[in-house]
Amino acid sequence: MTQVVTRFAPSPTGHLHIGGARTAIFCWLLARHFNGRFHLRIEDTDLLRSKQEYTDSILASMRWLGLDWDGEPVYQTNRTELYNSYVDKLLQAGHAYWCSCTPEEVEAMREEARQAGRKPRYNGRCRTRDLGPGEGRCVRLKTPLSGKVVFDDMVKGRIAVDVSELDDMVIRRADGMPTYNMAVVVDDHSMGITHVIRGDDHVSNTPRQILIYEALGLPVPRFGHVPMILGPDRQKLSKRHGARAVIEYKQDGLLPQALEALQQLAAGLGPAVEQGRGQQALGDVLFAAVAAARLCQADPEECLYRASQRFLTQFGQMEEAAPAPLQEMTEAQKQALWEQVKNRQ
Ligand code: GLU
Repeated sequence: MTQVVTRFAPSPTGHLHIGGARTAIFCWLLARHFNGRFHLRIEDTDLLRSKQEYTDSILASMRWLGLDWDGEPVYQTNRTELYNSYVDKLLQAGHAYWCSCTPEEVEAMREEARQAGRKPRYNGRCRTRDLGPGEGRCVRLKTPLSGKVVFDDMVKGRIAVDVSELDDMVIRRADGMPTYNMAVVVDDHSMGITHVIRGDDHVSNTPRQILIYEALGLPVPRFGHVPMILGPDRQKLSKRHGARAVIEYKQDGLLPQALEALQQLAAGLGPAVEQGRGQQALGDVLFAAVAAARLCQADPEECLYRASQRFLTQFGQMEEAAPAPLQEMTEAQKQALWEQVKNRQ
């Protein structure tokens, strides 16, 4: 098996919360289990919503959770030239084209398709116009006219999407910035990522990304989309559900290992990692990932609470060893306690 390389790619538009932390833990576990590499990428291209304070907070939360990453974090905002060099390759190879349609024109095409009972999409008007660069022009990928994009998701199984569902997507905006899908493909390729594990809110991006890999003639990584942690109303977890930033658990004095134990204990991930061998382990880890997500869907807060309780009871001597309630312990005392607990496993 080639070396496993995973990455966690948060957008610094908010603090790291339990859902993001869970995804990061899966990526980290998979890489560490197979003696691979785990990278961190800060997806900060949304200049309006990205904030340095969130990047700092995400890095601090990762460190606090013990999720160490290899090498320096990669920042997307430093890589515009790299992305555009790949866009140029696609243009040169005839797999992409310049498009002068204005947003209003594209909207009109979509509306027309809607009226005709078809899926709203760009109608490919500039595909054969052979335009060059110019003010207000974007670059679009030439999506194949027929066929299916098929991939074996490590969590969801086989997914097939007909290309008629996907129009000629923009890969470089009129302002010269790459689009999200373009940047992610270039990053994952150039960072040598072998396994892309992310929330299943990204599953619809994957066929688009595969089309970009194929047009560039690059190997396609494996994908695993883990279910999102949902609130009791089945909606995406948010402040409304009392979802808390990981950093708040730290402020409450919760041991980082207890939060990590949430994932391991709730899903039996520990045994899967311990006993898993070779190919089997990958399946085990991802199966456990799905189980954890399902459990968390019930009530992540309660799940966290239970797991930390279980964690404390499991290591009976914890109380004995603890000189003071956890909240009153210094970081050094907690660390020393954790060392004791860990050595007893
Ligand atoms: N930046 C994306 C997010 O925070 C993750 C994209 C990915 O993992 O491919 O949802």
